[in-house]
Amino acid sequence: MTRLAGFVAALIGALLLPAAAAAPPAHEIRVRIEPDSRFLEGRDSIRFGAPRAATLVLSARFRIDSLAVDGQRIEVAGRPAAGFQRIALPAARRVDLRWSGILAPLERNLDHRGTLAYAEPASGKEGTFLPSGSGWYPAVEGALERYSVELDLPAEQRGLVPGRLVEERQAGGRYRARFEFSEPAEGIALMAGPYRIEERRTRTAAGSEVRLRTYFHPEIAGLASGYLDSIAGYLDLYERRIGAYPFSEFSVVSSPTPTGFGMPTLTYLGIDVLRLPFIRATSLGHEVLHNWWGNGVYPDYARGNWSEGLTTFMADYAYRERESPEAAAAARLAWLRDYAAMPPGDDAPLVRFTSRTHGASQIVGYNKSAMLFFMLRDLIGEAAFEQGVRGFWSANRFRIASWDDLRGAFERASGKNLAAFFEQWLERTGAPSLRIADAEAKPVAGGWQLSVSLEQGAPAYALSVPLALRTAGGEITRRVELSRERGTAVLELPAEPLQVALDPELRLMRRLAAAEAPPILRDAMLAGNPTLVMATANTAVEAAARELAASLLERAASERKFASTQLVVGFHADIDAWLVREGMPSRPSTLATTRGSAQVWTARADDGRIVVLVSAQDAPSLAALVRPLPHYGRDSYLVFEGARMIERGSWPAQPQVWELKPKAGVR
Ligand SMILES: [Zn+2]
Repeated sequence: MTRLAGFVAALIGALLLPAAAAAPPAHEIRVRIEPDSRFLEGRDSIRFGAPRAATLVLSARFRIDSLAVDGQRIEVAGRPAAGFQRIALPAARRVDLRWSGILAPLERNLDHRGTLAYAEPASGKEGTFLPSGSGWYPAVEGALERYSVELDLPAEQRGLVPGRLVEERQAGGRYRARFEFSEPAEGIALMAGPYRIEERRTRTAAGSEVRLRTYFHPEIAGLASGYLDSIAGYLDLYERRIGAYPFSEFSVVSSPTPTGFGMPTLTYLGIDVLRLPFIRATSLGHEVLHNWWGNGVYPDYARGNWSEGLTTFMADYAYRERESPEAAAAARLAWLRDYAAMPPGDDAPLVRFTSRTHGASQIVGYNKSAMLFFMLRDLIGEAAFEQGVRGFWSANRFRIASWDDLRGAFERASGKNLAAFFEQWLERTGAPSLRIADAEAKPVAGGWQLSVSLEQGAPAYALSVPLALRTAGGEITRRVELSRERGTAVLELPAEPLQVALDPELRLMRRLAAAEAPPILRDAMLAGNPTLVMATANTAVEAAARELAASLLERAASERKFASTQLVVGFHADIDAWLVREGMPSRPSTLATTRGSAQVWTARADDGRIVVLVSAQDAPSLAALVRPLPHYGRDSYLVFEGARMIERGSWPAQPQVWELKPKAGVR
């Protein structure tokens, strides 16, 4: 019945769709780039499946050299001084356009967080990056696009766009390569540079042949074969889990700027990022997986981006799970720990996440989202989860899909109604604050009876709460259902319970209690009203401290006396004296015996305030922390020698535990 109804609905849907929506516009682009002079010259022939009016979007830095609509030349009015020129066209089947101009210099300047915002198509000898959405070619507004792009570059340069490499040749002092992308794509990005290409062909688990390549700058050419090995491994892993790899190539491309971009058929990563030994084991797999989630199925951005959470869960998190249960639990702790560090005012419903713009949106859009998939797998079981993933892929390949489509796939796979589950984790801001309110045990015939009262904040979530019970007969884990603000569960146990621990493995998305979330650097980084405290009165120290605060904190630090978060900066002896004056614990023993030119650690004062202490031997040692320190948000303590981190760690977390006392006891 449902199958037939679905078929009829699909048929009606197909009849109602305009023909143009079924056949996205197709570009045939030829582009010549001279990185030395940053000159770009392009011609594009855009074909529409059926005549339609369209608006083309092109960066204002280009001059339109000619424009013809269905063979008729059209004059274009003047262009704006900056931003984009939008060219509204009458209904047409074919548009021909030539354009040229000077690209922006490839900026090496970074903002204070080490990220680069690419608004402009940019070029230089070291690299060219023309992002999709930068207006480097006349994009058809609001449409997915197919394309063929032919690149024309100086002989010593190589370049590519996402897609299948159709032909490549070197002649007359030029390098030319043509690429095709035959599925509807979200836009076209172009990369070029003085690359060395390494290539390998591999046959995947599904039997198709894939061309693997590295486009690396000469200084990292030696890393190529290791990267090719890793890509082959990831393609195999995800084909088995999800379905056939949807493309015919995958390339890793180096960038002179410290970036990380994933696109269909390739990933574009900074040279220094590619050099990091752990990238092959983590970020590379994440980027390969984006060919299924994000570039194989497109998120419905207006209704929330699910692709980062699902990719984080099936890549970064899955690798930790493969390592050990402890490593996986540590990853969940890190997510929840970051969440606890986020001021509630920065929180937002997951459904509103579209892309990463700052630390708080990453915590929701990546971490909370990945935790949703983790809880979902706990709820429906691994087999149904994996089946749901495969079903979602096969139903939505090269389509725009929303959270609702994901929910539908998991509902079909599990036979469960998941509306309430998705609603509470997607639509609501925040997370439950769980605690054990009471626990009592009494002997009954054949064993013991344990009553556990749990509380969560309002509004209540429907939760299946894991309890780890230490009994006279060993450890037992039970799940209890809690759907109100307070509830009591009665458990029958074979032996006398001695201790109840609340979700010690951190299987629920929740706001951790203070002892479960010992302070980390991120607490200061995300703080709503951080305060900068100078423990040493010295102009060089003060200058370095201000620079450090600007690089570390998302919000400007004030110097008011009271705040929930303090960044305290000074020389070693002055920091020790400040701690004594404030009645705070002295320098932790882990650090007291370590050397290093600077030490950084977090502490929680009795009044709940979080204090980050930055203790250095001199002012240059403080200044050396400005660049590296923001990268260690998940640590509680760090030791530096100059700008080099030589030791790090986090303070141990204490799970929420209730000790059961004999009836005659104090409690
Ligand atoms: Zn990602």
